[in-house]
Amino acid sequence: MTFAIHGLAVARGIAIGRAVLVASSRVDVAHYFIEADQVEREIARVASARDAVVEEINRLLQGMPKDAPPELPALLDVHLMLLQDETMADGVKHWIADRLYNAEWALTSQLDIVARQFDEMDDVYLRERKGDLEQVVERILRHMKGLPTTVPHPTVKRSSGARQQDLLLEDIQDVPLVLVAHDLSPADMLQFKQSVFAGFVTDVGGKTSHTAIVARSLDIPAVVGARNASQLVRQDDWVIIDGDAGILIVDPTPIILAEYGFKQRQAELERERLTRLRHTPAVTLDGQRVELLANIEMPEDAPAALGVGAVGVGLFRSEFLFMGREGALPDEEEQFEAYLSAVSGMKGLPVTIRTVDVGADKPLDRHVRDEAHLNPALGLRAIRWSLADPSMFLTQLRAVLRAAAHGQVHLLIPMLAHEREIRQTLALVDQARLQLDNRGLPYGPIQVGAMIEIPAAALSVQMFLRYFDFLSIGTNDLIQYTLAIDRADEQVAHLYDPLHPAVLRLVADTIAACVAHGKGVSVCGEMAGDPSLTRLLLGLGLRSFSMHPTQILAVKQEILRADAARLADWSQQVLRADDPSLMIH
Ligand code: PEP
Ligand code: MG
Repeated sequence: MTFAIHGLAVARGIAIGRAVLVASSRVDVAHYFIEADQVEREIARVASARDAVVEEINRLLQGMPKDAPPELPALLDVHLMLLQDETMADGVKHWIADRLYNAEWALTSQLDIVARQFDEMDDVYLRERKGDLEQVVERILRHMKGLPTTVPHPTVKRSSGARQQDLLLEDIQDVPLVLVAHDLSPADMLQFKQSVFAGFVTDVGGKTSHTAIVARSLDIPAVVGARNASQLVRQDDWVIIDGDAGILIVDPTPIILAEYGFKQRQAELERERLTRLRHTPAVTLDGQRVELLANIEMPEDAPAALGVGAVGVGLFRSEFLFMGREGALPDEEEQFEAYLSAVSGMKGLPVTIRTVDVGADKPLDRHVRDEAHLNPALGLRAIRWSLADPSMFLTQLRAVLRAAAHGQVHLLIPMLAHEREIRQTLALVDQARLQLDNRGLPYGPIQVGAMIEIPAAALSVQMFLRYFDFLSIGTNDLIQYTLAIDRADEQVAHLYDPLHPAVLRLVADTIAACVAHGKGVSVCGEMAGDPSLTRLLLGLGLRSFSMHPTQILAVKQEILRADAARLADWSQQVLRADDPSLMIH
């Protein structure tokens, strides 16, 4: 049966393919594709973890004290039976051998399928066995991760055989795959960057959550905030992602498929048309030159930036080098190599490296949210995290300074608000230089800039101008903190508004102050890559935009059609409007 799920449009385009579900588990699970020659090894990993759990349960049963509640051995019997169930084992083998999922992903995928079969059972007792199956899989996963396993709670009164159906799955290796998940951390997204997905959908997330940002940089259609999509969609369902409208269509009819196939081809044609602008200088009708820079997450993104004619990198989100490494942070050499690779990848064009910005919705590891803190967006994030660990920060600063000996490098500091943070940061930059002098290592000159992404920073822009060579406006956070809207929370996504008069006022005043002082200013938040806002930002005096490479040509098209002088008057009217959105087309 065809049905549609509405979410938030985060990355444009249409994707048509089969759903791949990334099941959520209480144990943190890695998802990646393996090579064909690793299939046997992955199957063996699951088997040996399963055998270890069987052994462990047998040990528990043998050592069970006489006065133990009778439910406990019965429960363990159920677990033993589930562990030896062939449907589970065969399904796991299928995901590993036919789809090349890693062992943990295969286990959680099969759990998801069998758990749904339990859900559909009429017998209440059998339905309740789902919880046992989840516990058993969790024990296997914990074994595979080397985590301690725990004795399950005695929640059942008797054991029984579970009725399970066989999975009928065709071989779909050549069909485009669409990822459907409850949530994905930015670190997960990075892993998927090298893989095959034609699009993705998550239940949670806002338009400018970092997961959405990475999706946009992948240039694949994506919808976030699709509420319970991961529960309604089943493995292998045919789905269409309409990334422009923010809709997921499940099990489409042939007519709907044909219509979206047509839309997909139209979008491809439009994209091809835009590529003709690649070498055209970004100059307005009245001769104003505009700098179009790229936002990148990894040095490997540099060719994509050059490919669309970016004149440099305006934001290298260095934190992506730090993520998903189970706490082992990159050392100075590794960072130096990465920065150098971005610098050489950009072939002499400037590269702005932002110091690490972890925290909030960018946890270091795969845990999606830092639940230990009530309000992580207001917590130890970005420069606060760096200043809390000067030795880690100095390592990064030395690596950046050394890369600057090989090309034009700018250093950008995220989330500053206080003067003492600014002074501490700049003192550490000096200290890093001194350390390199002492070691006799070469380093180059850098311009140091600050991000304006906290309202307090925008309101004290004059102070920032006294300390920094340039400013870069991080509108994603500036909007989040001005409007008190968690950028990653789909429940308040409708209130996340780049055109709120307060946001526009802070952006406009920051640009005006920089222009008045002859200091460089750019916007590197998602506003810069939204072609519907290009004219407004031009009118406010912005001449440097930094965005995903995928957006550069569409924004350039707007610039080529714009008359900056005329837009200046109009933007002042927009600034004064109660509802500026009514004036933006
Ligand atoms: C921003 O906040 O606008 C920004 C560019 O930084 P990030 O999205 O990485 O927080
Ligand atoms: Mg930010």
